Amino acid sequence: MNQPFIAKELLLVGGGHAHVILLRMLGMKPIPGLQVTLVSHDALTPYSGMLPGVVAGHYTQDDIHIDLVPLCRFAGVRFIRGAVSHIDAAAKTVQVQGRPDLGYDVLSINIGITPSVSNVTLDQDVIAVKPISKFLKQWDLFMQRAHKGDLKNICVVGAGAGGVELALSIDQRITSLYASSSVVTQRPQISIVTRDERILKGYPSKVQQKFEAVMRDRGINIVATFDVAEVTATQIVSSDGNSQDAENVFWVTGAAPQHWIANSGLDTNEAGFVTVDEYLRCAGSDSVFAVGDIANMINDPRPKAGVYAVRQGPALYENIKRTLLGKKLKRFKPQKEFLSIVTTGGKHAVAAKNGLSLSGAWVWQWKNWIDKKFMKQFSQFPVMSQSKNTGLLRNIDSQMACGGCGSKVSGDLLSSVLSGLGIETSELDDAAIYEVPAGQLMLHTVDGFRSFIDDPYRFSEVTVQHALSDIYAMGGTPKTALAMVTVPYAESGITQRILEQLLAGTKVALDREGVELVGGHTAEGSELTLAFAINGVVRPESLMRKGNLQLGDSLILTKPLGTGCLFAADMQARAKGDWISGALDSMSLSNRKSMEVFRERGVTACTDVTGFGLAGHLLEMLHACNLSARLNLDALPLYDGADAVYYQASIKSTLHDGNRQAAQSVQESMHRNFPFLFDPQTSGGLLAAVEASQVESTLIALKANGYADAACIGSICALAGTDIEFS
Ligand SMILES: Cc1cc2nc3c(=O)[nH]c(=O)nc-3n(C[C@H](O)[C@H](O)[C@H](O)COP(=O)(O)OP(=O)(O)OC[C@H]3O[C@@H](n4cnc5c(N)ncnc54)[C@H](O)[C@@H]3O)c2cc1C
Repeated sequence: MNQPFIAKELLLVGGGHAHVILLRMLGMKPIPGLQVTLVSHDALTPYSGMLPGVVAGHYTQDDIHIDLVPLCRFAGVRFIRGAVSHIDAAAKTVQVQGRPDLGYDVLSINIGITPSVSNVTLDQDVIAVKPISKFLKQWDLFMQRAHKGDLKNICVVGAGAGGVELALSIDQRITSLYASSSVVTQRPQISIVTRDERILKGYPSKVQQKFEAVMRDRGINIVATFDVAEVTATQIVSSDGNSQDAENVFWVTGAAPQHWIANSGLDTNEAGFVTVDEYLRCAGSDSVFAVGDIANMINDPRPKAGVYAVRQGPALYENIKRTLLGKKLKRFKPQKEFLSIVTTGGKHAVAAKNGLSLSGAWVWQWKNWIDKKFMKQFSQFPVMSQSKNTGLLRNIDSQMACGGCGSKVSGDLLSSVLSGLGIETSELDDAAIYEVPAGQLMLHTVDGFRSFIDDPYRFSEVTVQHALSDIYAMGGTPKTALAMVTVPYAESGITQRILEQLLAGTKVALDREGVELVGGHTAEGSELTLAFAINGVVRPESLMRKGNLQLGDSLILTKPLGTGCLFAADMQARAKGDWISGALDSMSLSNRKSMEVFRERGVTACTDVTGFGLAGHLLEMLHACNLSARLNLDALPLYDGADAVYYQASIKSTLHDGNRQAAQSVQESMHRNFPFLFDPQTSGGLLAAVEASQVESTLIALKANGYADAACIGSICALAGTDIEFS
């Protein structure tokens, strides 16, 4: 037996430039036995070198973002979308809002910076260029105002390469708008402000002159030796009392670290940046690395620039691997100079290196080629063969994994996790006792599956909802849950961390539904799986059954279709992060409130749409009462991305064909026209038959309760020769 075994955990905080390189390398050269987790704010991480191109209108926002979800899939890395708000280096834990702390053996931080506004009084919402995700939202709003001709003047504070490119790119965009719009007649004045004597401090004087000339030609006002101390609603005011009109302020000044880093127990310099040695390791720590703008390389300090972070990626991979294998680390020497290409707003740029400079449209084309080549690495992945054992992997064949009760997770470990969640195992009996309220019927169901996402917390939230759904579909109230857990073979500390995330997600989801976790069984196995046996109760008069359909009823579906093909694409690293997180949000949504909406309206026929797909579950209802259905295919709600996955990428779930085979009595043309009828759903919505007169009010109530995609998808009829046809 050759079982995978998790020996160590690497936690990556932030999807910055060095980490995306590291992730790609992990995909190409995995480190067996290593579980890697990335926590980042968003599924998308921006490539700042192309940001001015978005502002100028040369690129879309999609063009400049790396999607961390498929990248992590390629790398075999668990992705957690979340904001880290604290690191405790002593306890080796990381706090992420909305879930239990994450533990690690090795940590790496690549979270970038926030703009430095600490000495400035702000009475206006300045548009800071970092974080870029926030900037882009503000930029969209700014452009809406620009289209209405609402802008009097624009002021860019900061005249380094970023500020200069931004000012020129804004000018480029406003110029195009001015040329094409009949509304925008008054061109806003653009100024760039610096506390230095000239723009582009540190650049060769020839480059400074070139950009000063470009700005003059474009009518951009350069305000030098102006140290901004205050931003009022309409002006900027300098520390020596001068003022300048500024109604729309863009902030591209020096960098500051995120404030919580100061309390992490990591060594920082006086400005608060994490100090790292020549191995990229935090000073004084064996297990924490920091890279990119957040790191201050004590031996080779460099200005904050993405090119340094990119170059750190391979060195970070190597030194993390050496740390895990207990080998001597390799020194990292950052490049002394780098090729700086600064764009002038249009498709024209100036390149500078070692005191030399070149300019022209071809320089922009060259930069465009470099940038696009860089981005391509993160969307087109090579097909990899199985990795070789590099020594970290500890196969358990030498110590044969036990079966039977020997495969159970140790009692101490489990009790410790459960008691951390407020569940005392000492109070539990051999079996759970539940007193059934008089006059009610009991409902029993069991459901679960192997993990289809890497994040145990989110996986458990979805699995809980999936399992409860059977009870809701029958109009019942779930009362108790028994969990059946299999955790992957791992060092006991790692098993504990997986269980903490899994059971915390379970507890939170069950608590929300008022269901008590009364017991379970936890074993080790080759992969993470989770199932729940749920018991519920229902008053006989509230019972909803599959077979209670009435001729003329309308069919309402509460959630979209498409999880089967979306997660099949995700497995192949071909689904966008936003599609997956949108689907997960909906899959974590309980079906309880929709059931209550149906029950209030006297609905008696309902089912939940899961593995057999909409067609399979609808056929079960139809066969139970010998009726047929006419579906309106245009009304069927679909998850974002499902269409693209099925039609463009030709990806479908492995169960799709089986579901299709089983649905022979569905009108033949529907097989061609709407394949999502056969797409298996995980934690799908409820499908209920509602009296036609109640449809409108039911849909209003469902939408008010969070089922934004609920739709009336057809009606019950009596057809000859087919069970389901479409209208
Ligand atoms: C307009 C402009 C143009 C620029 N052009 C260039 C250029 O051409 N070349 C160049 O070398 N440099 C350029 N820079 C500088 C460059 O932006 C930075 O040096 C670079 O982005 C730093 O990268 P990083 O890897 O440190 O972090 P970032 O790229 O900033 O990435 C940080 C990541 O961490 C995530 N994150 C942040 N905080 C948290 C948290 N608390 N929890 C979880 N996740 C978190 C973010 O979502 C993000 O994914 C430019 C800057 C600007 C403003």
